[in-house]
Amino acid sequence: MTAEETELAGALGERPAFVPTMGALHEGHVSLIRHAAGLGHQVVVSIFVNPTQFAPNEDLATYPRTREDDIERAREAGADVIFIPDEQVVYPGGSRAAERGAAAIQLPEVATRPGLEDACRRHFFGGVCLVVGRLFDLVRPGPAIFGEKDYQQFMVIRSMVQEQAERFEGIEVIGCPTIREPDGLAMSSRNVRLTSDTRERALGPYRALQAAGQAETPREAEASMAEVLDAHDLEIQYAVIRDAETLEAVSDDGRPMRALIAATLDGLRLIDNAPYPG
Ligand code: AMP
Repeated sequence: MTAEETELAGALGERPAFVPTMGALHEGHVSLIRHAAGLGHQVVVSIFVNPTQFAPNEDLATYPRTREDDIERAREAGADVIFIPDEQVVYPGGSRAAERGAAAIQLPEVATRPGLEDACRRHFFGGVCLVVGRLFDLVRPGPAIFGEKDYQQFMVIRSMVQEQAERFEGIEVIGCPTIREPDGLAMSSRNVRLTSDTRERALGPYRALQAAGQAETPREAEASMAEVLDAHDLEIQYAVIRDAETLEAVSDDGRPMRALIAATLDGLRLIDNAPYPG
């Protein structure tokens, strides 16, 4: 064990509740930490901007970093241990090896088949599964808390834990609802990039989800979502109704469904989702 791992191990209780984040904490993160604190376990929050989930053209270098504020917010919300590892602790073999590891990782089907985030961000789930797996190995949590804001990510991590039952034994993946601004905008660390001009258009995904809820059929819901996103002058990556578990095409056998959206606004990517119908 490295000195940092030893220090972490010394601070950890038995099966803590764990909230992994990339920092720039907002009320969405705070809600996860509060949920964790309500479970009666020690609460561990990690802050690590994970290089392996960013593609070379993405915003790793400029991802918002607000460490001092994050520490205060996490503590106030109920964190007992705030784990801010260096890259060498998470990836002892170095970032090149880690990138190769991310590319080679065996992903669950929900990370490869839906054609949603997996199609738009080809690096993404390899990097997410690599880092979350590594953080789980270091922290050995009981409950692990994730936001439904990143719905496919939540389903991917749940599947990963189920599929690697031996490695991740004792971990329960818990999803918490999306926290929104009063007008409905889903909170996100990247919202700091919205300007007075783009803030109103960023409501497109939320309004599209509301419109989907009024539609009679999944097909009509998809058409309504596209219409609303167009009206906000957003570039649609996907706006679909899918099976809520597999995120593949809906069937008509009454399984739960989910509306899922990704769109860009002057290069800023917005994602949102909600149960369908309403
Ligand atoms: P991130 O720091 O963006 O990697 O997110 C860390 C965790 O916070 C993930 O589980 C996200 O799904 C969750 N999260 C991000 N935004 C929200 C939100 N608006 N409401 C609830 N959870 C969120």
